[in-house]
Amino acid sequence: MNVEKPGGRLFGSGKCSGLPGAHQLPMIQKMVESMSQLQEEKGRLQEQLMALQKKLTLRENDQQAVSTQLQAQVENLKEKLIGQVQEVNRLRSELGGTDLEKHRDLLMVENERLRQDMKRCEAELQELRARPPPCPDCEHSKESAQLREKLAQLQVETEENKGRLAELDLEVQQKTNRLAEVELRLKDSLAEKAEEEERLSRRLRDSQETIATLKAQPQPIKYIIKTVEVDSSKTKQALCETQARNQYLQEQVGMQRQVLKEMEQQLQNAQQTTAQLKAQIMMYESELERAHGQMLEEMQTMEEDKNRAIEEAFARAQVEMKAVHENLAGVRTNLLTLQPALRTLTNDYNGLKRQVRDFPLLLQEALRSARAEIGQAIEEVNSTNRELLRKYRRELQLRKKCHNELVRLKGNIRVIGRVRPITKEDGDGPEASNAVTFDSDDDAVIHLLHKGKPVSFELDKVFPPHATQQDVFQEVQALITSCIDGYNVCIFAYGQTGAGKTYTMEGTIENPGINQRALQLLFSEVQEKASDWEYTITVSVAEIYNEALRDLLGKEPQEKLEIKLCPDGSGQLYVPGLTEFKVQSVEDINRVFEFGHTNRTTEFTNLNEHSSRSHALLIVTVRGTDYSTGLRTTGKLNLVDLAGSERVGKSGAEGSRLREAQYINKSLSALGDVISALRSRQGHVPFRNSKLTYLLQDSLSGDSKTLMLVQVSPVEKNTSETLCSLKFAERVRSVELGPGSRRAELMSWSSQEHLEFDGGSVQTPSSARSYSSSSTGAPISRSSSIRRKLQTSGKTKPVPV
Ligand code: ADP
Ligand code: MG
Repeated sequence: MNVEKPGGRLFGSGKCSGLPGAHQLPMIQKMVESMSQLQEEKGRLQEQLMALQKKLTLRENDQQAVSTQLQAQVENLKEKLIGQVQEVNRLRSELGGTDLEKHRDLLMVENERLRQDMKRCEAELQELRARPPPCPDCEHSKESAQLREKLAQLQVETEENKGRLAELDLEVQQKTNRLAEVELRLKDSLAEKAEEEERLSRRLRDSQETIATLKAQPQPIKYIIKTVEVDSSKTKQALCETQARNQYLQEQVGMQRQVLKEMEQQLQNAQQTTAQLKAQIMMYESELERAHGQMLEEMQTMEEDKNRAIEEAFARAQVEMKAVHENLAGVRTNLLTLQPALRTLTNDYNGLKRQVRDFPLLLQEALRSARAEIGQAIEEVNSTNRELLRKYRRELQLRKKCHNELVRLKGNIRVIGRVRPITKEDGDGPEASNAVTFDSDDDAVIHLLHKGKPVSFELDKVFPPHATQQDVFQEVQALITSCIDGYNVCIFAYGQTGAGKTYTMEGTIENPGINQRALQLLFSEVQEKASDWEYTITVSVAEIYNEALRDLLGKEPQEKLEIKLCPDGSGQLYVPGLTEFKVQSVEDINRVFEFGHTNRTTEFTNLNEHSSRSHALLIVTVRGTDYSTGLRTTGKLNLVDLAGSERVGKSGAEGSRLREAQYINKSLSALGDVISALRSRQGHVPFRNSKLTYLLQDSLSGDSKTLMLVQVSPVEKNTSETLCSLKFAERVRSVELGPGSRRAELMSWSSQEHLEFDGGSVQTPSSARSYSSSSTGAPISRSSSIRRKLQTSGKTKPVPV
């Protein structure tokens, strides 16, 4: 190694060392000294190098540590930054719940409004309380009550809203605290980062300075090495090594610089990131500020709304207050007017108080006199009652007398005709054609076309085929109710077999006849009088067949019963052994009818035939007692479904059939005789001529009422029988009442005549009315018939039909 140094010439190479001598010794000594000095110098330099190396290593280590620390710090900061960004985002999302804020604000506004309302209401209430108590019914009281209610409601609402507001306040407070905390943390971390940055840059500066110092130091070392190289190869070698070492160290320093540069780069990057983060934070902050601004604006608007609402409420309250003031003024004037009234009332009250004080004495006095008056009144009422009772009894007697008189005048025997409709059983052809017509102007007239000749009859009433069971019952119900008053009543159904007798009397289950309807009516009438009268209704069911009387409700229906005089000498008749059933309801009646029907059925094989040859009787007895007078009444209602009136004898019947016919004829003739005798008021009435009339004696005589229902078949083939029935009916009806005619009537009403009736040959009694519509050509009215009756009341000759 050749190091050209100016001083090097003094220590030149071997060119000078060839000169040994005395003068060379000091030079050698000098050289040795110099060598030793160099050696020392080298040792020192080596020490210095070692120290430098150590220092460098330390620096390296330091730098390494600093670099790792910085990296760790940068990582840490990055993490913190990410965490803070997240935290900021989270907080933003939490705080950014604008709905919640709005809701809270709305609630605050509502709460404020309610508070205002409440204050207003409280003020109003206070004022109202301060006022004099209003009259209970006036409008103010109602208004005040309403206001109170409203106030209570508002207070409840306010309480609720207060609670909710407090909750929201708490929530907002918590969030604000957390935001402040986060902001604080953010600031702290920013400060920390700035500090760290400062510290790092300081350390970087220090390192740079140290490096610069180190750079400056190697020059003398080089110089020394050069010097040493000149002196010794060993030293040279050492120097070379040292230089290599130095080289290596310089490389290391270069590398360290490189690393440092990288680190600086990293630091720069970190600084950039920090700057970016700062920018972001700034942005967030500005956003927060903007949101805050918005919030303030909204709050401002709400404040304005609130003020407006308050103003409106205030205006409303003022109007209301005005109304209340006006009302109050009215109430005050009312109070002023009421004061005199109150004075009068007080006076009255005092007067009343006095009266109340004196009242017990007055009351006792009044009670005494009232008692006396009541006693007197009771006495008077009693005597009036007695008088009334006496009058009532007299009136009852009078009524009965009047009724009897009326019955006598009207005639106590009425005859009604009923024409049944044409049925399937009548068959077809000319024989089954209709032979009966009616008068549209007079419901008492019936026209019959018999063998081509029209014959007309007048009865009390005629029911055409379309008449209902109820229509017929309507006509007879007055008779039926009279048995409650103690009258005896007989209703007979008369007519040939198949003319509708049983239908009219019994009817069907769906459409009952007179029997059932009569009992129903009696029940309801009795019920109506139940407060004054006690009634019992009993029924007996009997039949008369071949002049033998049988009890259809008895245990032995085949047993023949006798009619006897009462042993008490009253002259009344009775039938020993005839069963009487007490009935109280329609069900009872149905049971009784069913029982009677069963007895009749088991007795005879051909019931239809049998029933047409026997008389069926339903005897209803109504016994009543008047609670107040003790008066007793007994009325009897006899409902009789007579045997068929057809003339069997004429057709040459023999044996039992002839006997039956004779019995029937006998009893029907006897009935005719009795009715005739009764109407003409004869002294002797031949009741005993048949079982039927004998049994019904007490229901046919005296003030009893009789109704004959003449049943008629409308068809052509039955006209002969129809003619007989109608003639019989008309004769019964037209028996004269005058005393002069009595005997004559009696004479003309022979029991045999019943069988003698015939369309062509029979003559009617002088009083009978048979009108040929062809001979008069005009409809017959009731008045004309009465006129004629009067005209023919003398002994005129019978008129042949
Ligand atoms: P009677 O008892 O006179 O022999 P019924 O009462 O047995 O006659 O009547 C004969 C038939 O005519 C029965 O089938 C009955 O139902 C019917 N009949 C009678 N009158 C009427 C009426 N007013 N309406 C309808 N059908 C009737
Ligand atoms: Mg019959």
